[in-house]
Amino acid sequence: VEISVVTSLADGSASLRLQVAIEAPQHSGLDGVLDYAAERRLAPGTLVRVPLGRRQVCGIVWAAGQAAPTEVALKPISHALTALPPLSPAWCALVEFCARYYQRSIGEVALAVLPPELRTLDEASLARRLKRLAAPASPGAADRGDATLPPLTHEQQSALDALATCAGDAGVALLHGVTGSGKTEVYLRAAASALDRGRQVLVLVPEINLTPQLEARFAERFSDRRIVALHSGLTPAQRLRHWLRAHLGQADLVLGTRMAVFASVPRLGLIVVDEEHDPSYKQQEGARYSARDLAVYRGHLERVQVLLGSATPSLETWQRAAQGRYRRLTMPTRVGGGAMPAVRIVDMNTLPRRKGVTTALSPPLLDALQQRIEREEQSLVFLNRRGYAPVLHCADCGWKSGCPHCSAWRVFHKLDRTLRCHHCGLTERVPRGCPDCGNLDIAPIGRGTERLEEQLTELLRGRDGGRPRIARIDADSTRTKGSLQASLEAVHAGEVDVLVGTQMVAKGHDFRHITLVAAVNPDAALFSSDFRAPERLFALLMQAAGRAGRDAARAAASEMWVQTWHPQHALYAALRRHDYEAFAKSQLDERASAGLPPFSHLALLRADARTADVARAFLQQAALQAAQLPDAQEAVVYPPVPMSVARIADVERVQMLVEADSRAALQRLLATWLPLLHALRRQHRGLLRWAVDVDPLAI
Ligand code: ADP
Ligand code: ZN
Ligand code: ZN
Repeated sequence: VEISVVTSLADGSASLRLQVAIEAPQHSGLDGVLDYAAERRLAPGTLVRVPLGRRQVCGIVWAAGQAAPTEVALKPISHALTALPPLSPAWCALVEFCARYYQRSIGEVALAVLPPELRTLDEASLARRLKRLAAPASPGAADRGDATLPPLTHEQQSALDALATCAGDAGVALLHGVTGSGKTEVYLRAAASALDRGRQVLVLVPEINLTPQLEARFAERFSDRRIVALHSGLTPAQRLRHWLRAHLGQADLVLGTRMAVFASVPRLGLIVVDEEHDPSYKQQEGARYSARDLAVYRGHLERVQVLLGSATPSLETWQRAAQGRYRRLTMPTRVGGGAMPAVRIVDMNTLPRRKGVTTALSPPLLDALQQRIEREEQSLVFLNRRGYAPVLHCADCGWKSGCPHCSAWRVFHKLDRTLRCHHCGLTERVPRGCPDCGNLDIAPIGRGTERLEEQLTELLRGRDGGRPRIARIDADSTRTKGSLQASLEAVHAGEVDVLVGTQMVAKGHDFRHITLVAAVNPDAALFSSDFRAPERLFALLMQAAGRAGRDAARAAASEMWVQTWHPQHALYAALRRHDYEAFAKSQLDERASAGLPPFSHLALLRADARTADVARAFLQQAALQAAQLPDAQEAVVYPPVPMSVARIADVERVQMLVEADSRAALQRLLATWLPLLHALRRQHRGLLRWAVDVDPLAI
C-alpha cells in the first residue's frame, strides 16, 4: 500500500496522511484507527508513537488515508520505530478479521495482542534490544541424527503421507488420534518438513502447564533450531524477546498458548493446534476470540497448512471434517499396540448407604486403589472441585457459607481454615461457630480435592503399612512458583502412590506408571443447562483415561473408573467403548434437532449492572432495536436471562442469546446492531458494561 496523499499542515511543511491503529476501547465508539500526519512514507505495519489527548501512545500504521480535508490540521506522529521491520500485511489482515468477527475495534485488538513491553519502547531502547538479539541466529546447525528417530507407526506414516501430498498448500487437517497414538510425533515430523523448506512453525497448546513439556520434546528433536515460547507465564522482558525473535525470523518454532496465534511469524509454514477442542483456546475477555478458529483463518490467509489434533475433536471441527471441509487423518490405536484402559462404571445407587453419610469413595474403588499401591503402580483420582468442601452448613438454623457479594457459596479450605469465594476472592477465617445462631457444630457438605486427599489418606495404606503417599495438584497446591513442577516430578519419580487433582492433572501429562484413573463425581455435567457440558465432560474423561496405561507394558492392566448415579447414561456407555464417534454422532443428532451449534450460530450479549433490572432493561431495549433492523428476520433474539452465577462482586450479570442459521447472517446483524448500543448505553444509567461474545463456549 502506497502512502500517496499529501496535505499541507498549518506550519506549511509537506506531510503525508496516515491511518494509525491505536488502542481505543470498544465503548469509545471509535474503531481505533485515527488519522495522523507524517513527514515521510511509512509502510503499513510500522510501529509509531502518536499523541492522543495529552498522552503519547503506541500505534501501528494501518493504511494510507484518503485525501485529507485540507482544513483539518492533523497531529503529526511523534516518531516511528523504523528499526523494527513492519508487521506483515497478513498479520494486519488477521487482526482486522478478528476485530470484525468478534466485534471489537481494530486498534484494541492490534495493540492488545502485542507484547505489552513493546508498546512502551522508544527508538533507543528498541535499538538496544535489537542489538542484543543480533547474536548468532541459530544455535549452530548441528547435524540432526535422523537415525535416532523411532520408526513411525503405520498410522503415523499414513497421516504424514496424507499431509505431504498437500504440503506447502493451504488446508486444514484434523488429526483424530486416541491418546497415546503418537500425535506429537506427527507434529514433530510435519514441523521438520516445514523447517526443511525454510519456513517457521507455530504450535499452539491449550495450557500453560503443558508448554514446558511440549517445548522439551520439540527442543530435544530440534536441537539445531531456535524455539521460543509465548504465554502469560513469561516475564514482560522474556515475552518481548521471544516475540521479537519470532518477528525477526530468528526463531524457527514458536510454541505457545492462545495468544501465540497472533505471533508475528514472517515465514510461516505450518500451524499446529494441539488438543484443538480445549475450551482454553477461547479468550474470555476483551476480544473473545477462539485461537483455534483464528488459526484456521490464518492458515487460509497465509496459505499454510493447519493441523488440528485431538482424541476428542470439538463437534464443530468434527462436523467440518465430516463435510469434507477438513481432511480427516485417523490414528485409532496406541503406539506399541497398548490397549485403552478398561472402563468400569460404578453404580453408586447399589452401594450400601450408611445413615446420613453418602460414601464418596466406593469400596470397590478403594480396593482397586489399594491393589495398585501393593503392586507399586500409581493411580490418579480426579475431582473437578478444589478446596475441602464447597459449602459449610449449620444443621441447627440452616445457615450456609454464602458469599455476601456473589450468588455462590464460599468454599471451605481446611488447610488454612478459610472460607473463600472462588468468584470474587473474598477470603475470611472460618468462624468458630455458626454466625447466625452460634452453634459450634458447623459441618462441611460435599467434597473437594482437599477432602478427597484427606479421605484417601485415612482409607488407604502405604506399601510399608504406613501412610500412603498422596499428592494433590490443583490451583491451590500449585500457587507458588515451581510447586507444580515439583509435584509432577515426584509423580514421575514414583514417589507418589495416588495423585489427586482437578482437571489440571487430566490433561496432557505423560505419566508412565499410572494404571488407574478414577473420576469420583463427574455427574453434574450430565444435567447442566449448558448444552456443551456433555461434550466437555466426555473429552475430559477420555483425556483422563488417556493418562492410564501410557506405558504399553502396563496398558493391559490399566483401568478407568467412573463413579456415577446414572450408570445407564449414553455418555458413559460411549466412554466404556472409547467410542468418540458414537458419542459425537448422538450429540450432533441432538444438536441438529435442537438447532444448536454447529447447526446454528450464536452470540451472547451480556450486560452488567448493580441491579438485574438495569441490566435486563438495557438488553430488552437492545432487542427492540434489533427487531427494527433490516436483517432482523434472519436471527432470533431470546429474552434476557441471568447468567449461571448471576451476581459476582455485587455486580448482576444478565445475558441474551442471539441465534442465526448462518454465520454470515449473524455477522450482518451484529455489524449493524452493536454500533447502536453505544448510544443506547447512555440512556441506561447504572449500566456498568455490556459485551458481546461471538461463538460463546459456555452458555
Ligand atoms: P498422543 O499425543 O497421541 O497422546 P504421544 O505423542 O504422547 O501420543 O505418544 C505416546 C507415546 O508414544 C510417547 O511416549 C511417544 O514418545 C511414543 N511414540 C510416539 N510415536 C512413536 C513411535 N513411532 N515409535 C515408538 N514410540 C512412539
Ligand atoms: Zn446456625
Ligand atoms: Zn464472592
